[in-house]
Amino acid sequence: MAAISRTGRERGPAARLVEPRLVAGGTGRQASGMERTSDVARLRRLIEASTRVVVFTGAGISTESGIPDFRSPTGMWARTKPILFQDYLASADMRREAWRRKFDGEPVMRAAEPNRGHRAVARLVREGKASAVITQNIDGLHQASGIPEAQVVELHGNATYAHCLRCGARYEIDALRETFERDGEVHPCPACGGLIKTATVSFGQPMPQAAMLRAEAETLAADLCIVLGSSLVVYPAAGFPEAAKRNGARLAIVNNEETGLDRLADLVVHRGIGDVMGDAVGVN
Ligand code: NAD
Repeated sequence: MAAISRTGRERGPAARLVEPRLVAGGTGRQASGMERTSDVARLRRLIEASTRVVVFTGAGISTESGIPDFRSPTGMWARTKPILFQDYLASADMRREAWRRKFDGEPVMRAAEPNRGHRAVARLVREGKASAVITQNIDGLHQASGIPEAQVVELHGNATYAHCLRCGARYEIDALRETFERDGEVHPCPACGGLIKTATVSFGQPMPQAAMLRAEAETLAADLCIVLGSSLVVYPAAGFPEAAKRNGARLAIVNNEETGLDRLADLVVHRGIGDVMGDAVGVN
């Protein structure tokens, strides 16, 4: 079995022989009606032929719910840069800035509801076709779509609540916002004095070990990995689809733009997730 390290770049056993990869859609031009039918049909066939699917999602699956991603031309990084974990720890100004961004973004996060792509994934899980969803997302929309908590592996945590970095005590966002609006800051944990932070994993922060182990097990048990809406440039997360493929699973990628793993994939569809997955799985 292939091991996945923090860099996620270990090589597993050689993949078994697969069909040449199929690239459907394509950036820079509209897919024709026939291409749309055939890429959906190919994805459906891959799903039907598999016995255990693992779905790997990124910010792109939630853009159709109104939450911007990072790296699309209209994504968040066109406007702002991420705050690194060490800066959050070191600087009260950075913590204030992180909380200001969090509270500014709250109305969008709260209004967001699962879209057709989330519903298609939920159906695969409900029907026992997919064993788990490994997600980089922090928005809780897979759970909101009806997937049991136990089948959602959150690699980058969850932004719908906060916790103390020292003792782990949980804090609700609404209560922290009240304090922030009143005092201009979120105070340290009343229980232990540790810093409070949203329960997300920032760049530079250690990955959650249990989620990493679970993601590795799901990856290596799958015979099909479907990537939805990820640029696949953030490691170690992007190491999972790569490891699935190198372990012998088929790899299908649905993403508007090219990704770092397109060259490895059995099927690449450069179109919107809601339409492609909705049609492939038969969900509105
Ligand atoms: P990314 O922004 O790097 O890539 C998203 C990809 O999705 C892009 O390549 C884009 O072309 C594609 N995309 C966007 N909308 C699409 C659609 N409707 N159909 C098909 N493709 C679509 O995101 P990432 O790879 O997940 O990595 C960024 C990091 O950002 C992750 O660590 C994640 O934690 C965090 N993030 C999460 C959210 C969220 O929870 N919703 C939002 C923004 C960022």
